[in-house]
Amino acid sequence: MNMSLSVWEKLENEIRTFTADIRNLPVQVNVRPEEVRARLQSRYSFEAPLPLETVTEDVSELLRQWTVHVTHPRYFGLFNPSVRQAGILADALVALYNPQLAVWSHAPAANEIEQHTLSYFSAALGIDEEGSFANFTSGGSEANLSALLVALSHHFPESGENGIAGIGKRPAIYVTGETHHSFVKISRMSGLGTKSLRIIPTTSNFRMDTDALTHQIETDIKNDWHPLMVVATAGTTSAGTVDSLTELAEISKKYDAWYHVDGAWGAAAVLSPRLCQELAGIERADSITWDAHKWLSVPMGAGMFFCRHRDPVRRAFGVSTSYMPGKTDERTFDQYTAGVQWSRRAIGLKVFMALAEVGLEGYGKIIEHQADIGSLLRKRLLQNGWVIVNDTRLPVVCFTNQDIRAGNYTTKDILKTIYERSRVWISDVVLGGEESVLRACITSFRTDEKDITCLIEELDYARQRYQ
Ligand SMILES: *Cc1c(COP(=O)(O)O)cnc(C)c1O
Repeated sequence: MNMSLSVWEKLENEIRTFTADIRNLPVQVNVRPEEVRARLQSRYSFEAPLPLETVTEDVSELLRQWTVHVTHPRYFGLFNPSVRQAGILADALVALYNPQLAVWSHAPAANEIEQHTLSYFSAALGIDEEGSFANFTSGGSEANLSALLVALSHHFPESGENGIAGIGKRPAIYVTGETHHSFVKISRMSGLGTKSLRIIPTTSNFRMDTDALTHQIETDIKNDWHPLMVVATAGTTSAGTVDSLTELAEISKKYDAWYHVDGAWGAAAVLSPRLCQELAGIERADSITWDAHKWLSVPMGAGMFFCRHRDPVRRAFGVSTSYMPGKTDERTFDQYTAGVQWSRRAIGLKVFMALAEVGLEGYGKIIEHQADIGSLLRKRLLQNGWVIVNDTRLPVVCFTNQDIRAGNYTTKDILKTIYERSRVWISDVVLGGEESVLRACITSFRTDEKDITCLIEELDYARQRYQ
């Protein structure tokens, strides 16, 4: 490999200029697939080799031009964060050393770095390290899948051999319409099927209706279903609301159901002394999903799975082969025997490096800053004649206005104008299965007051077009 310096200088320059320019770039992308394909076809027939410098420059240009810039301070979108420099450095180091984390003995440094990092987050969640388990996953979907597989192995230790069909009763999973839709896929992947998903109605605040949950569980028991798992959400994707975590813990305990809290985005609030109360009850969960690649501002591909019980994890994922190096030390474990993945990259290094740079308290401050900007947005929307429809202290703001409610124009009309101008990015969402509303989330640690002013201006401009 010819690693001429210039390609690294180019990369360094790209990192510097992109980070400096991001605020001035259009946040939205407007391109047709044909245009992207034609550009690729014109340059990449893969016949003659190309100099890496040229390819690097070209790819940078492609990505800059044709990406929704989720790291933009005015990307008020889904839970995709701006990334800290530590994450970019860490991912480069991971690519360089390419440590294989499947077995401890192949990557002692990276494996221990991960477990060291996770132990601090476990403590923040109120999980006792003794007998508990934590690992990094590709994301929240894999963590949620892990939760279900571990719950099955806990309730039905024999199911690993006999399969779902051998269980006899049908296991039920309790969710709401606001639960993340990864559970739809998980129900299929696990063989339980989507009928195992009991969609419990929500209250007017889009939280799981606890009376309805109790009622459904009792009906299920009567009909020979087995209450397997209650899924609470801490920070719903649509509205950022937090289910009644303590009450749901009580109900789960009463019926001996596995209690899973999906805090993919919202669990990060445990790091804020001001907001952690919102998540009271999370410490009672049997398992928790928490994505570092959401509110912890690291690049994608970093989920976390926490579980208070080690044995069912081993039962669910344990396997041994002659070709994998054996265990060298009883105080360690091998990742391939404790999770969905086999070959496993050093996912946690970027989280470790970001945490080392920022500190636990520093993360709390970043999270509080974003929550404050969210509160400012709520205030400014109300002052400008918008109606807030969700109730949360976390920075997801769902809103509408009287004209949209009267049907004079739609949320899609507003978005069309906003995307054309490309100064801010927001989305719309149907809440409670009924009303389409606009949604803005403070996803970037870079977002400040002037970005909120810009968002308000853009919303004003868009609605004036239809008045
Ligand atoms: C994003 C999200 C997920 C899915 O996580 P991925 O990292 O995208 O796989 C699950 N649950 C909630 C509440 C989420 O916000």
